[in-house]
Amino acid sequence: MARVLVVMIPAEGHINPSLGVIKELVENGDEVVYCCTEKYRMKIEALGAQFKAYSFNEATLLNNPDLKPFELKHPYQFLYMVLKKIVQRFIPDVLNLIENETYDYLIFDSLIGWGGQILGEKLGIPTVCSTTTFVFVEPLGFDNQLKDDDEEVKELHNGIMEMSQQIASQFNVAVPSLAELSGHSGQLKIVYTSRYFQPMGDKLDDSFVFTGPSITPRKDAPSFSSESLHALYKQAVYISMGTILNKDLDFYKLCFTAFHDLPVQFILSSGKDTDIEPIADLIPENFIIRPYLPQLEVLQHVDVFLTHAGMNSASEALYYNVPLVMLPLTSDQPRVAGRVQELGAGVIVDKNNLTADVLRNAVLEVLGNASYKEQAEVIGRTLREAGGYKQAARAIKDFMGKQPLSATTISSLE
Ligand code: UDP
Repeated sequence: MARVLVVMIPAEGHINPSLGVIKELVENGDEVVYCCTEKYRMKIEALGAQFKAYSFNEATLLNNPDLKPFELKHPYQFLYMVLKKIVQRFIPDVLNLIENETYDYLIFDSLIGWGGQILGEKLGIPTVCSTTTFVFVEPLGFDNQLKDDDEEVKELHNGIMEMSQQIASQFNVAVPSLAELSGHSGQLKIVYTSRYFQPMGDKLDDSFVFTGPSITPRKDAPSFSSESLHALYKQAVYISMGTILNKDLDFYKLCFTAFHDLPVQFILSSGKDTDIEPIADLIPENFIIRPYLPQLEVLQHVDVFLTHAGMNSASEALYYNVPLVMLPLTSDQPRVAGRVQELGAGVIVDKNNLTADVLRNAVLEVLGNASYKEQAEVIGRTLREAGGYKQAARAIKDFMGKQPLSATTISSLE
């Protein structure tokens, strides 16, 4: 029985995929301590894990204008942001929280990057990285590159080196090379997709274990009667822009204009914190709108998903063979959308050229052309066959089986 420390970033898209794995570890007898913000306490305790709240504010992370990796023009910008916004502030917080405690291994969010390695080293335990998006075989920003000899890039490089030296001395660990900083931390990397769906998946070694999305029942999701979906119309389209960038009422109005006269049922997740009162009078008859939906359930009853192409939303849809119309906005969404389109399971609409006609034509194209569904099924099969959270827990167990016995295990044997 191992004692496991889990440290995750406070975002639903990062936490949801970890839930199945945690449940499985707890059921296998491990003692799990999960660190996140207070908002996620209930979700975690419901799995039988212990919960610890750190003070790092999620607004620092989610509402920060610097955190727009899509707009990065050089990989150093992302690296700098991770060091400055996350590693430097987050690691001391977590170390304080678990002072004088011992663990057998660490599971950490991939966004913590080198910070995960520092935690592992400080605690003297093996590390498992939980990767909730594609692995970046080429670093974020590489395709939009500023030249390395550009003044701005030189400054960033110096900033990164300075900050990593500072952090290394703060925690008394070795100063990492740039390659180490930009590489993938964690001895084992659990990636919640399939090697097929992962771009350039064949370039990644066996320390990357692809498990597919972690599909588990969501106890906190509201109930929803799927019968209402097909009561009037044969086809149904689900619309959700995820849990973060979901407050754009103009986009919802555009959907009303684009789709109000189609013989299709639309179901829209408008966001838990979005006030839709200002547009309530405009809701067309063929729309059902809820602040939050049991997405896994809804996806099993729809023909197309209009999504921002968040990694979780895209993967969950493909897992259930649902083709996509994608409006990627930021972060990893353009990459996810690009991959889905490349594999023929959906189409991208350009956020800079968004009209009701563009939206309508894209949805009609995917609803009317069977090839998108067929390709969604091809990806879906690889995601389902990857084994999900059970496979992730097995991979962790195998990995731990190859590690030297930890202090906790030795003392429990004495
Ligand atoms: N989600 C849900 N119901 C909703 C909206 C979202 O269950 O009404 C879940 C969805 O299933 C997914 C997560 O929230 O697991 C959103 O993650 P994603 O990576 O797609 O987007 P983000 O919210 O991080 O932008």
